[in-house]
Amino acid sequence: DYKPGGYHPAFRGETYNEGRYMVVRKLGWGHFSTVWLAKDTATNAHVAMKIVRSDKVYTEAALDEIKLLRQVSAPVSSTESLYDSSKHILSLLDSFNHNGPNGKHVVMVFEVLGENLLALIKKYEHRGIPVMYVKQIAKQLLLGLDYMHRKCGVIHTDIKPENVLMDVGDVEAIVRMVEVLDKKKRDQKRSQRRATKTSMDLPAAPNSLSRGSASASLERSSSDRRMRRHTIITGSQPLPSPISSTNFFEMKAQMIGNSLPRPTACSSRSNANLSGGDDEQVANSLSSLELTTTADERPEDESQREHDIIQIKIADLGNACWYDEHYTNSIQTREYRSPEVLLGCQWGCSADIWSAACLIFELLTGDFLFEPDEGHSYSKDDDHIAQIIELLGEIPARLLSTGRHARTFFNSRGQLRNISKLKFWPLKDVLMEKYRFAAEDAETISDFLMPMLRLDPQERADAGGMVNHPWLRDTVGLEGVALSERKLYQSGADIPGWSQEVTGHPRH
Ligand code: ADP
Ligand code: MG
Repeated sequence: DYKPGGYHPAFRGETYNEGRYMVVRKLGWGHFSTVWLAKDTATNAHVAMKIVRSDKVYTEAALDEIKLLRQVSAPVSSTESLYDSSKHILSLLDSFNHNGPNGKHVVMVFEVLGENLLALIKKYEHRGIPVMYVKQIAKQLLLGLDYMHRKCGVIHTDIKPENVLMDVGDVEAIVRMVEVLDKKKRDQKRSQRRATKTSMDLPAAPNSLSRGSASASLERSSSDRRMRRHTIITGSQPLPSPISSTNFFEMKAQMIGNSLPRPTACSSRSNANLSGGDDEQVANSLSSLELTTTADERPEDESQREHDIIQIKIADLGNACWYDEHYTNSIQTREYRSPEVLLGCQWGCSADIWSAACLIFELLTGDFLFEPDEGHSYSKDDDHIAQIIELLGEIPARLLSTGRHARTFFNSRGQLRNISKLKFWPLKDVLMEKYRFAAEDAETISDFLMPMLRLDPQERADAGGMVNHPWLRDTVGLEGVALSERKLYQSGADIPGWSQEVTGHPRH
C-alpha cells in the first residue's frame, strides 16, 4: 500500500505545511489513511496528522470529509442547552496538501486523542466494560450524535468501536513519557547494533524508523477485528479488576504507546496488557515514570477528574454524509448495519442510532450484538436478518414492501427463503441468561436499548431523547446533564433526514 496512489511513507523528523508540523511517530491507521503524532511548531503543542492515500477516489472522499468536519467543528449558537455537545466530535484544526513520492496527499490535522474503544473492549478481555464506564461512554456518544444529527445535519454512517476515541487528558505529559521511552529503546537498539557490529564486523543495520518499521506496525491495525467468543458465560468467572487510579494513568500512557511500533513478537497478541520480555520493560518504565511525574506534572484536581471520567469523541467522518446528500447506499460496517440498509429501504440519521445501540451492547458484554455468518444454504445477509428477527421480532410490513432487496430474503408470504427455524430470544432474556445480568438491571438496560433498535427507522428513538433515560441519570460526571428539548423514547421523525434523504437541495 506504500506505492504511488497509496499511503505516504512518513518518517520521524519530516516536516509538513511549510515546516509547521514535524512528525514524531505513528498513532494508527485505517483503510483511507495513516495517522501520525506531530509537533506543531507554531503552538509548540502536539497534534494528530491524518495523511490520506493519494489516489483520486481517496482524495475526493477526503475533500468531502473536510467539508463535513468543518460543518461539525463550526460553533453552533444555541439557546436551548448549556451543555456543549460538540466537544464529543473530533474537531479539525487544519488541512493542507502534501507532495510525496507516492503523489499528492490530503492531510488533516486534529487534536491528539488516545486509543479507540475496541482497545478498551480488548483490555477487558471481551467480558464487558464496567457499567459505570459504559454509561459515561453511552451518554457522551448520544450527546455527540444528537449534535451531529440535529445541529449539523450530518450522518456518520460508520459508528463502531474503532471510530470512537478516548481522550487522553494531558497529552503533553504523556508525549514526554513516550519520548523518554522511545529514546531509551533507540539507545538500546543502537548499543545492540554496535555490539553486533564489533563482534561480527558487519555493516550497520538500516535505520529502524524508515518505511520498514511503519509497515511492521500495520500488523496491529486499529481496524483489526477480533474473534468473537462463542461461549456462554455460565459460572462466576473472575472479572477483570476495575480501573484503579494508578493503572488508569498507565493505561492512558499506553493509549499512545499501544498503537505504536513495538517488536513484532507481541503483534499477534490480541490483549493489550503488557507483560513479559521487552513489553515488561516498557510497562515497568511506565510505572516508574508515573511515580516521578505524578506530583510535579499533573495538577491534583485535573488528575482526580480524569480518574472519574472517561472522555470520548466520535472520530472518522471519512464515510459521513449529509441529511440531504447521501453518497452511497452501501453504508455501515457489517455488525453495526441497520435492517433498513440490509433490506435496501430508505435510510437516514436513525441508521447511526441502530449502530450506537449495537456498540453499547458490545461495551456491556464484550460480544457483538449481531454476528452473522454464511452457511452452505444461506448468505451472511440471510443470517443477519434472521438474527435480527430472533432478537426483535418480525420485520414490519412497510420495510418488506419498500426494501429493494426484500424479495431476495423473503418469499411472498413474508417468510425467510433460506432459513426456517428461528429461535426467538428477547434482549432482556439474553442479558440475564447469557450474560448473567440481574433481572432488574437486564430490565433497565433492555428498556434503554430497545427504543434504539426499533426495526422501523421512522419509529426509532432519537439520540437526544435517549440522553434523558433513567439508566444514564447517575452517569459519573454527567449527573445533571439532560436535554429538556427532546423527549425520552420519542422517535426522531421530526428531525430532517431522519429516515430518508431530503431531496431537492443543491449539492454541498
Ligand atoms: P480511516 O479513515 O483511514 O479509517 P481514522 O480517522 O479512522 O482513519 O483513523 C485511523 C486510526 O488512527 C483510528 O482508529 C485511531 O486509532 C487513530 N487516530 C485517528 N485520529 C486520531 C487522533 N486524533 N488521535 C489519536 N489517534 C487517532
Ligand atoms: Mg476509521
